[in-house]
Amino acid sequence: MSFLSRLECSVPCGAPPCDPRGSHHLCSCGMPLVARYDLEAAARAWRRESLSGRPPTMWRYGELMPLFEGEAPVTLGEGFTPLIHATRLGRELGLPALYIKDESLNPTHSFKARGLSAAVTRARAAGATTLSVPSAGNAANALAAYAAAAGLEAQVFMPRDVKAPFVRECELYGARVTLVDGLITDAGRAATERGGPLGWYDVSTLKEPYRLEGKKTMGYELAEQLGWRWPDWIVYPTGGGTGIVGMWKAFDEVEALGWVPRGRRPRMVSVQAETCAPIVRAFREGAARAHPWENARTCADGLRVPKAIGDFLILRAIRESGGTAIAVSDREMVRDMKAMGALEGVSAAPEGGATLAALRRLRADGLINTDDCVVLFNTGGALKYLEVIGE
Ligand SMILES: *Cc1c(COP(=O)(O)O)cnc(C)c1O
Repeated sequence: MSFLSRLECSVPCGAPPCDPRGSHHLCSCGMPLVARYDLEAAARAWRRESLSGRPPTMWRYGELMPLFEGEAPVTLGEGFTPLIHATRLGRELGLPALYIKDESLNPTHSFKARGLSAAVTRARAAGATTLSVPSAGNAANALAAYAAAAGLEAQVFMPRDVKAPFVRECELYGARVTLVDGLITDAGRAATERGGPLGWYDVSTLKEPYRLEGKKTMGYELAEQLGWRWPDWIVYPTGGGTGIVGMWKAFDEVEALGWVPRGRRPRMVSVQAETCAPIVRAFREGAARAHPWENARTCADGLRVPKAIGDFLILRAIRESGGTAIAVSDREMVRDMKAMGALEGVSAAPEGGATLAALRRLRADGLINTDDCVVLFNTGGALKYLEVIGE
């Protein structure tokens, strides 16, 4: 049974909470809605020992997932990905407790599977028939697969210069693909223009409340896989920010359950591309929101997000955690996706490589100590990005 009780404004703006059943997108103030649970009742009723017999997917945390009595999730086995002890890289960096959370092993080879499994589950329950999403690549693949599994139509909008495997994989799952001049933000405009009048259900990240719920499970898994404690550092490649914001929410919830001690949370490091770093710039300026980045480009498609609707939530999480934000070059990302491959046997997207490049910087600057426990997030696999390897 789920303890989901209401949806609230993320700001919060003061609008009254709403019933999570039915179709929901943004708050009336235009900002993201967030799912809230009855955490006190959950803490009384739910023991972490109950997890041991459950299937190894993100839905094992069902009490704090958006699923009502009698419903089944739209699932392809997403989540509970391996937390790999990166001993060879750790030796090179002088970090015996270095781990890679390998999200490339999700359906459609990225952590976008988590968010879309949750969002498509709720959209189907709300009676949607056509789902749409603007995407830099991986979210489109994930929506295409989950919509297919649910028997729904997927309309995906991507930048025209997206790498070919992302387009082919959408077609594999029977999605309708529209390529748009410009970036993910332009794709978003095109999707709204076309789909709005037709009543398509928009699953843009943070423009509906449930992709966040899928992605938060990365935080639950870290605690469970590390024996109910947090790492000291989480290094995470940031585009729309759903991962960082979701994990920060998970820390609140897992603490409220009493499953980990309060007050010793991981520091969050947000990693972006030097050529598209709106969050890094805003972090350095001490700003609460980020200005759109002009001429955004990078080979890490998931990081090519010039403007995120949840920028204030990302910046809040980084600052409250005592973390930082770092920009790395495409050259460093590709170098380090190869290092993850050659030293650990991990198939890393450039976004995953970016976290290792950022970690090298943090070590050189003396910010991370040798006895710190560090988790790098490899958010996607290398195969759809192979054209960058030769560059
Ligand atoms: C979407 C994506 C990101 C960015 O994730 P957010 O949680 O939206 O910040 C990072 N890496 C990959 C591989 C992605 O597909």
